[in-house]
Amino acid sequence: MTSFVIFESAAEATEIINNMLDEKLELTVKSIATLHHNTTSNDLIKLSHEYNVDEVNIYNKHGEIYASNKPQNMGWKSYEGHPTYIFLTGYKKIWAEDIRKDSLSDLYYKYGYYKTNDGCFVQIGILSDKYYNLIQAFEIDNLLMNLDEFSYIISAHFIDDSLNITTHNYMDEIYDFNLDKSKIDSIANKREYFSKTKYRNEDAYEVILPIVYGNNKVGALAIAFSLSDTIKYIQLGSIIGVAVLMVIFSVIASMLVKINKRNNKLFYLAYHDSLTGFPNKDYLMEFLKDSINKKSVAKAILLVNLINFKLIYLTYGHEEGEIIFNKIAQEIKASLSKKEQVFRITDNEFIIYTENYKSKEYLIELCINIKSIFISKSKTLQIHNNIDAKIGIVEIDNSSSHIHADNILKNAEIAASSYFTESNTFYNFFNKDMEQNILRENYIESELKKAIYNEMNNIIYLEYQPQLNLKTNKISGFEGLARMKTEDLGQISPFEFINIAEKRNLIVPLGLILLKNACSFIKYIEELGFNHVTVAVNVSTVQILRDDFYDNVMKIIKDIGIQPSHLELEITESSFMDNFDIVNSNIMNLKNTGIKFSIDDFGTGYSSLSRIEELNIDTIKIDKWFIDKLTTPNQGITSDIISLAHKLGLNTVAEGVELQEQREYLEKHDCDIMQGYLFSKPISHDNALNILKNFEI
Ligand code: C2E
Ligand code: CA
Ligand code: CA
Repeated sequence: MTSFVIFESAAEATEIINNMLDEKLELTVKSIATLHHNTTSNDLIKLSHEYNVDEVNIYNKHGEIYASNKPQNMGWKSYEGHPTYIFLTGYKKIWAEDIRKDSLSDLYYKYGYYKTNDGCFVQIGILSDKYYNLIQAFEIDNLLMNLDEFSYIISAHFIDDSLNITTHNYMDEIYDFNLDKSKIDSIANKREYFSKTKYRNEDAYEVILPIVYGNNKVGALAIAFSLSDTIKYIQLGSIIGVAVLMVIFSVIASMLVKINKRNNKLFYLAYHDSLTGFPNKDYLMEFLKDSINKKSVAKAILLVNLINFKLIYLTYGHEEGEIIFNKIAQEIKASLSKKEQVFRITDNEFIIYTENYKSKEYLIELCINIKSIFISKSKTLQIHNNIDAKIGIVEIDNSSSHIHADNILKNAEIAASSYFTESNTFYNFFNKDMEQNILRENYIESELKKAIYNEMNNIIYLEYQPQLNLKTNKISGFEGLARMKTEDLGQISPFEFINIAEKRNLIVPLGLILLKNACSFIKYIEELGFNHVTVAVNVSTVQILRDDFYDNVMKIIKDIGIQPSHLELEITESSFMDNFDIVNSNIMNLKNTGIKFSIDDFGTGYSSLSRIEELNIDTIKIDKWFIDKLTTPNQGITSDIISLAHKLGLNTVAEGVELQEQREYLEKHDCDIMQGYLFSKPISHDNALNILKNFEI
């Protein structure tokens, strides 16, 4: 007799099952008469209850089910391409199939088959839930306990390498398992051992299955069967006897698989994250496939994306960073109830699975708790800028039969990344519209990439809005405004595509291309001999925060060959509020070359004028909001802003001037420059040069 060799992969594990079924089952079954023609569906229902088998079907030789524990299966016929058909027409007598979806119920089963000599066959199905539960029970003791379902198993023991015995007795503590010399010998020689024994004065038999991994002995499984019980079932109808035995053997086989896995570090590593010990993405996918089947239970996943977790590593170094990261992870886990499972699927993403919850409020509460852990941890660790999380929530739809684990995860990603667009909260429930938005965003992103990496400026280009000097009534400059036009979507608002470029880390290269364009425009203006015309370019916070910002700007200016003083950079208040030191030094260095700076949308942020003075900015651009107020009864505070700015030596530009009335107010209160539809909308490069040449007062 051969010993059971434990294999590394699931495929090989299935082989074990096959081998076991083949060897054991065939031996047993050969001695039994085939009486399956007498087996009724009622017999099968009884059997399925008693042995906790989910499905038992008997097929005739044409592949049609004629007896089943499930009435709806009656008459179902196997067809070409279906696994049952492959078995029906194949040469195998016995087969244990990989877990698959049942074509009738959409549930996942593990099936085993046995064919009788007349070509009929029996099929047994165990719901994959159960199968996975077995697989999930890591402890040998749990595994042994699973055998509890089988009343004819008297005892089960696991004997490890050093002959220590883990015991689980079901029927009776009295059953006396002795490890005598012949048993020890067979274990040592990796041989199976069979012997007849007595149990309550009835025949029983003991089997010892040595368990070998590679060339190493892991231990042995000892099982005692009550022979009289077994025989009773065998007499009920041979096919049922076969069925019962198949179940026993597949349970044993899955135990073997489990023991193998427990002993196999590689398996553990393949399914677990090495830092946190949480199950990983592969595990999650298996887990989700399985949980989808629990139709009646409310279930959801939360994808927790840590936005700036790299800060921990930057602040503390990698090693220390990992320790801290793990602490946070464990704290999250500890805060969850038993209903929840946590997985780590990427460096900065966790999945929390929950089921049986009452309402959306419960899920929101979970999100709030997680967020509070990040905040309190950031505080105790004194991490500058909180570690922050965005969370995407997907409630797994029980009504749909076509949900896939892949989709659930994808939707969670979508919900998490809709963070900026959908709401101001850090969590979002997935909905179908989000998918549309993300598709649009993805498309815009890909077009942006095309424009950036192929430098295709028919997708991205600048328009220029003239600025009128109210003192001289001459064009003093232009603001370059980015435009995007694609084949499928037409014109896209800069609010939209600039935002996407920022989110998807494209703003830096995009900004450089826009800057190049603006500098080429300046070159034309210089060549036409206009020496006091400036061109302003909008700069995102991300750009000005970069160490290489100064070098990049200077390289473009030099390559194109323009005077730095003809370039103006527009920044917003928010860009220097949080990161004053870095921004300040970038601005100072650039200012020293002659480049000008203005504060865009002035009045919408909270910067103090003293800060602006400290930065040595040239101009403030008064936001359109204030200009719109000019035509209301109390006219707002525009005149105060202008006079204050002048006291600090700053120029003033009024934005969004649309009415003659507004222009008159601005002139009266000494505003320097105006920009808006009243004078001109943003216009093309060529039109801008023309208006410059022709506009003469
Ligand atoms: P912004 O910098 O405040 O630009 C002024 C916006 O007001 C422009 O909108 C302009 O077309 C619009 N505008 C000008 N005059 C009037 C007027 O009289 N009435 C009204 N109703 N609107 C007026 P646009 O071109 O849609 O740009 C929107 C925003 O997109 C800009 O606001 C800026 O924040 C951003 N943006 C545009 N181009 C760039 C760029 O090259 N880089 C970066 N980082 N952001 C840009
Ligand atoms: Ca601007
Ligand atoms: Ca503005």
